[in-house]
Amino acid sequence: MKKQYFLIFSLLCLFLFLTACGKDKTSSSKQEEKKEPTYSFYKKENETRYEDYKEKNPNLSMKDVIIRVNIGLDYPFYTNTKKSPYLNTSKLLVNKYFYLGEDYVPNHLVELDTSISKGGISLVEEASIALRNLIMDAKNDGYTIRAMSAYRSYQYQVNLYNNYVSQDGREDADTYSARPGFSEHQTGLCVDVDNKDASYTDFESTKEFGWMQEHAADYGFILRYPKGKEAITGYQYESWHYRYVGEKIAKYIKEHDITFDEYYMEFIDK
Ligand SMILES: [Zn+2]
Repeated sequence: MKKQYFLIFSLLCLFLFLTACGKDKTSSSKQEEKKEPTYSFYKKENETRYEDYKEKNPNLSMKDVIIRVNIGLDYPFYTNTKKSPYLNTSKLLVNKYFYLGEDYVPNHLVELDTSISKGGISLVEEASIALRNLIMDAKNDGYTIRAMSAYRSYQYQVNLYNNYVSQDGREDADTYSARPGFSEHQTGLCVDVDNKDASYTDFESTKEFGWMQEHAADYGFILRYPKGKEAITGYQYESWHYRYVGEKIAKYIKEHDITFDEYYMEFIDK
């Protein structure tokens, strides 16, 4: 009798074991079937755009494909544009697809005094405090950094851009100047710097540039248009243009060698 019970018990165990294995197999094959979405920033409505972009850029990882399509890079610059959300925060994204309205003026703009700037220019208060700390600490290390341009109004950009267009034509102007509403300077969160000796466009050749590369992120600033990332940012390399994003984001961007556009799509865009 006991032997029979043991046999039944063993068969029952075997049955339960096999059922469990079977369940495992079905769930893992289900996972294999639905390759996407595995990223939180995957957007079902962009599915065909991801496929098309991947086909044209087979060397990009699926993650990069998704991020770049979410930026809008599968469309030409200044097409399929969106009004930028997160106004009046350091998460605000402005590029060739995300723009600000002509009436947008950031809150809490403060004028930078001449100890840290050329004078007559303003930044959002939080960014101005960070910039002051950066410039003062650089000074203590023996480096001279000065803010040359900061907040620019929509109307200022209208005049600037139109001048460039009449000078070089729209196509050329688009490679180095933003169209009105698409300038990051309208956010009041970015700054062009020099070292007082060289023109800001030569900032890369100064020792101050090296200091900025090493320390800017500690104060929440990033080099916004890096060399080699032109296809993502839509801008020529600008060694002088720094954007305030806060210390945490700045350090992440620096460590992972990505652009703010990519960071935004991975962590901020909803
Ligand atoms: Zn700039």
